[in-house]
Amino acid sequence: MSRYIGSVCRFCRREGMKLFLKGDRCFSEKCSVDKRPEQTPGDHGLRRQKFSEYGIRLREKQKAKRMYGLSEKQFSRYFETAASKKGVTGSLLISLLERRLDNVVYKLGFSSSRKEARIMVRHGHFMVNNSKVDIPSYQLKVDDAIAVSEKSRKVGRILQSLEGLSRRGFPEWLELDQEKLVGTVKRLPERQDVTIPIEEQLIVEFYSRV
Ligand code: SF4
Repeated sequence: MSRYIGSVCRFCRREGMKLFLKGDRCFSEKCSVDKRPEQTPGDHGLRRQKFSEYGIRLREKQKAKRMYGLSEKQFSRYFETAASKKGVTGSLLISLLERRLDNVVYKLGFSSSRKEARIMVRHGHFMVNNSKVDIPSYQLKVDDAIAVSEKSRKVGRILQSLEGLSRRGFPEWLELDQEKLVGTVKRLPERQDVTIPIEEQLIVEFYSRV
């Protein structure tokens, strides 16, 4: 699978909003959305495009996909899983995305971005219920305990990221023991717990087109 290696700030400028893809930089004056809110990517940038109905839905899907750092295939698989379950597909989709291990590591403050969380999970810095898990897409469930592994408790990036946690906000469906470096899933995330500015209904409509 080919990975995009250019500047991810471009994605934020494309969507006209902060997607928080670069950790601490997103909260600094270096953020290019804050610096040039009207500028879209490309040489002729100072304009906002008008989108068709299809374009609006496509942009919403792209926004969510980029926020969680997923490929097209991975994202559409999440949609298929959500659509196959009983309930509101859009909310189920967000819940599945939120319960990825890399997202939870980020939300618990052990990393400053989802991208960093994904790398750290792959490097084996975390345990789930006392077993090492190095799969970023691992789906967490209620009462799962996510802990920084013994050998990683002094990793500078983790401790540094925790310092910025208050700035990023902490979700009510998780719990954190900052001293022990252990987080717990108190309950499944509901749509209202997730503050990301995404209209999931538009994503459902995008995938439901004929
Ligand atoms: Fe987006 Fe963060 Fe770059 Fe700002 S600094 S444009 S929020 S990725």
